[in-house]
Amino acid sequence: QRAAETARELLALARDAVVEQADSLGALDAIAGDGDHGIGMSRGLEAAVAAASSLPAGAGLSALLTAAGEAWSEIAGGTSGALWGAALSTFGRVADDAGAQGGEAVSAAVTAARARIAQLGGAEAGDKTMLDALLPFDVALRSAVAEGAPVATALRQAASAASGAAQETASLRPRKGRARPLAEKSLGHPDPGAVSFALIVETLADWAD
Ligand code: ADP
Ligand code: MG
Ligand code: MG
Repeated sequence: QRAAETARELLALARDAVVEQADSLGALDAIAGDGDHGIGMSRGLEAAVAAASSLPAGAGLSALLTAAGEAWSEIAGGTSGALWGAALSTFGRVADDAGAQGGEAVSAAVTAARARIAQLGGAEAGDKTMLDALLPFDVALRSAVAEGAPVATALRQAASAASGAAQETASLRPRKGRARPLAEKSLGHPDPGAVSFALIVETLADWAD
């Protein structure tokens, strides 16, 4: 139940960060996509926060993140909404099963969420999607946890890896999603889904510090 309270708080922090950057995320998505990434992420996170806060106080982490994830994908629409929604549900279930607290549980849940996104979206490393930030995040988190780093330190290292990797997507051509037909336009600009992923995990790392 402690974990569920924390998840509620973190969803609200993520929402605030994304709403603040919604215009720039939309502008990034407009370069080769349809320009709705800021709006979609904001609406999805608003819906996730609302769903999380309408659950009874005693709800567990898995129930909370399943409700939040379903609301996110339903309200946001769009590719990122479907992927984030599914990832949240998977994260909650696996983190709950693993005991919810501590670096190992968080890391196992991140790995499961990453696998779910890869399975649903069919993207691979280098396709210029959110996975290009999520993969290095997962790897960095797992190795920091394995080395015995405290959760806050592990999250900070993993978030830095995600931010660097998100910026590095600028040199890639999109091979999945709406940006693919305008792949050449996208060159030189980072992938919006990778940038919003990095923004969210940086926000979580700031909170943990
Ligand atoms: P839409 O493309 O439906 O308008 P968004 O604009 O909200 O949805 O999200 C676009 C982002 O979704 C992209 O920048 C990319 O990171 C991510 N994305 C698109 N297709 C895939 C996919 N198949 N697998 C993983 N991520 C994807
Ligand atoms: Mg879009
Ligand atoms: Mg769209």
